Amino acid sequence: MKAVRYHGPNRSLELEEVPTPVASSGEVLIRIAAAGICRTDLHFLSGLLNLGVSPLTLGHEIAGTIEEAGPGIDKALIGNRVIAYYYTGCQNCEYCRRGMENLCANLKGQNGFITDGGYAEYVKVSARNAVPLPDSISFQTAAPIGCSLTTAVHASRLARLAQGENVVVYGVGGVGYSLVQMARLHGANVIGVGRTPAKLAKARELGADHTINAREQNVADEVRRITNGKGADVIFELVGVLESMDNSVRSLAKRGRIVFIGYSRDSFSVHPIQLVITEAKVIGSVGNSLDELYEAVSLVESGKIQIVIDRTVTMDRFDEGLKALSDGKAVGKIVLLP
Ligand SMILES: [Zn+2]
Ligand SMILES: [Zn+2]
Repeated sequence: MKAVRYHGPNRSLELEEVPTPVASSGEVLIRIAAAGICRTDLHFLSGLLNLGVSPLTLGHEIAGTIEEAGPGIDKALIGNRVIAYYYTGCQNCEYCRRGMENLCANLKGQNGFITDGGYAEYVKVSARNAVPLPDSISFQTAAPIGCSLTTAVHASRLARLAQGENVVVYGVGGVGYSLVQMARLHGANVIGVGRTPAKLAKARELGADHTINAREQNVADEVRRITNGKGADVIFELVGVLESMDNSVRSLAKRGRIVFIGYSRDSFSVHPIQLVITEAKVIGSVGNSLDELYEAVSLVESGKIQIVIDRTVTMDRFDEGLKALSDGKAVGKIVLLP
């Protein structure tokens, strides 16, 4: 089969012919119909995230059809439309037992991170990771549910969003658009921060009450103005550069929570007094859990959340997709079609 292969940091991805995987005991083989490009994939290329596994097929936002069922798995599943949950936890450690497979101490697999992912024609996953996809959701809409929406569901849970809170979504891209809508569903006053008018317009269309253009406006001053001086109860930090981290800290309300999802090479530096006197909380959020993927699918099925697609590109044009994402030009997700 064809697959886009990663060969380590600072090396180009290559479209290659590789053996089609075979579903082992307890697994299914998925014929991939769509695979989303996530910012994390760019972090692999730059070396910012380096798990030391290569060659590897990237891609952890995967939707398709079950093509084969391995030993012990019901053949009736063949033909089912599914989204892949990309963590395969050990099911045994303290975190897996508490449903936090994203923190598993002994991961058996993680598609597109340490085991082969979705930039390919086929992928194999544990049968329990193949989450049923309703017919009403197209494959290209479904793929980004796998990370960008489900990560937003996870971060929203960690933030314990409450009705009427002032919520800043700092960075209006794939996860950001999902967070704008999640915050809206929680009855928050939603403020989107970005640098591109088209992306900010889309955030307003999805329910952001206010937007701030960080290129032209003073973010902290604007957040204070919009919130009558109080500041943001929750800030989802999707950018993680010095400027955004500094603006975020300065925008935070007392008892505010800053939730880090994005990161760069920059370090987060804050004098503890700033956290002490405001009783602020700093929270990290990584990935998502299987039950959050089920929730994300039902949020899309019921029309409560929209997945925003900038464009689809065929797998052989993966470079064009990655470049559009790294240039910051895409308004919404870019999805590869094999
Ligand atoms: Zn992702
Ligand atoms: Zn585990």
